[in-house]
Amino acid sequence: MTSSSTPNTLPKAPREFGFWLNGQSVDAGTRDLNTRISPGHDVAVTRIPRCTAEDVDAAVASAKAAFDDRRWSGLSGADRAAVLLKTAELIRARMEEIVYWEVVESGKPISQVRGEVGGCIGMFEYASGLARSLHGDSFNNLGDGMFGIVTREPVGVVGLITPWNFPFLILCERVPYILASGCTIVAKPSEFTSSSTLILAEILSEAGLPDGVMNVVTGPGSTVGQALTEHQHVDMLSFTGSTNVGRSVVNAAGKTNFKKLGLELGGKNPQVVFADADLDDAADGVVFGICFNTGQCCVSGSRLIVERSVADKLTALIKEKMAKVRVGDPLDEATQVGAITTDAQKQTILSYIEKGQAEGADLVCGQGALDLGMGSYIGPVVFGNVSADMSIFRDEIFGPVLTISTFDTLEEAIALANDTDYGLAASVWSKNIDTALQATRQIKAGRFWVNTTLSGGPELPLGGFKQSGWGREAGIYGVEEYTQIKSVHVEIGKRNHWVE
Ligand code: NDP
Repeated sequence: MTSSSTPNTLPKAPREFGFWLNGQSVDAGTRDLNTRISPGHDVAVTRIPRCTAEDVDAAVASAKAAFDDRRWSGLSGADRAAVLLKTAELIRARMEEIVYWEVVESGKPISQVRGEVGGCIGMFEYASGLARSLHGDSFNNLGDGMFGIVTREPVGVVGLITPWNFPFLILCERVPYILASGCTIVAKPSEFTSSSTLILAEILSEAGLPDGVMNVVTGPGSTVGQALTEHQHVDMLSFTGSTNVGRSVVNAAGKTNFKKLGLELGGKNPQVVFADADLDDAADGVVFGICFNTGQCCVSGSRLIVERSVADKLTALIKEKMAKVRVGDPLDEATQVGAITTDAQKQTILSYIEKGQAEGADLVCGQGALDLGMGSYIGPVVFGNVSADMSIFRDEIFGPVLTISTFDTLEEAIALANDTDYGLAASVWSKNIDTALQATRQIKAGRFWVNTTLSGGPELPLGGFKQSGWGREAGIYGVEEYTQIKSVHVEIGKRNHWVE
């Protein structure tokens, strides 16, 4: 692992944002302000209001009014598509602005964020087509007296709670699809990384989205997020974050209005490498899969499960590659691994590095916390000889910590891969098509990669098996998730009377 540190340009004063209500930015006024300190540089970068419960009520009322009067759902798919396409164009025009504020708030490397925002443009473009092609079904086989129609209708007001690890990407894996369905939105970004969500709200307005269709409330999850999850007029809630908060969201929905839920929660994702894999490719994929986004990624490949006969060779290749990973200033174009986004997350990761050693795993490489003279950094760590009862194998660490475990047979590999409460993602590396397909069929995960990892696009849906969540985002499935189905029975001709 090498570290880079070049001069960067930081804001001279924190940028002030308001929250977004009914097509307007609302200044903090008398509300508390949250000052975000850049995790990569220890400098104040943004100041954003902490909304109150009344603000959440106002935002939900605005989204409800916009839904009820059909100013958005009543438009044709073609008109909705035009707004989504214009949004894509405006994101492209403001790309560097979005990238910059996201980098300084999150500590993610600038080149990576640029790639993510580029991907988000594709999400809006793809979803614009779905706004036009979303349709129902018909049944012309119910006999001469009956015709059946199945329509899809937007669910209504969607509360959208997003985390700090991919603030813009996770937002854009949802917003265009929600809008394509005809729903309206109250978004609550993580308090650590709210700026790119507020910029998107402004862009949507400029692209012609009617006022009230997109609203953004800012502030802590424990108050603002909780108020949204409990709100009686939120018809559906899309939550991405920890399994613990996911559980409280389910409870809140049960205690209030049984709102529909979409949940994308944690993961402890296997990278299964068979002896016949291209080991050089697999080593690169494994290093990328755990280092990308500093391992703060729900789909990180954090458990390497490798066939015993090639374990030493693969471990040596991984160690060699890890030594070359560039950790450093998120604003440096050459940086591959940036800062740890929150102090709490840093403490969590460091505690697991200690636990791994205490549990008896072999420290293959990595030191843990790095002193770069600024910010909050952890270099990638690899543990070998990890057994399935160790906490570093079982718990989602959400940091650059890789565990290595070995197997001798396909059955053992599949059992180890499935030995987890989660089921978000998995990768398999093998040049034998039978092996790759058997593993793909039998490992329980919502997202699968064969001889690659962490690739994606707007066409393919995201979501988990087991405790990794409910429902799917993105693709046609993502739009359908924000609709509900209505069956319409149409009698043809004279009714056959019940009362003569
Ligand atoms: P949280 O689940 O606490 O945060 C995710 C989102 O939920 C944020 O917007 C947060 O707001 C909000 N939130 C927090 N508490 C509540 C609540 N009671 N009601 C409604 N919304 C709430 O995750 P953390 O940020 O604390 O991360 C902890 C762990 O969660 C990580 O270590 C990782 O394991 C996992 N995680 C998984 C993610 C994924 O993509 N699946 C993403 C992030 C974390 P705010 O941040 O403003 O408090």
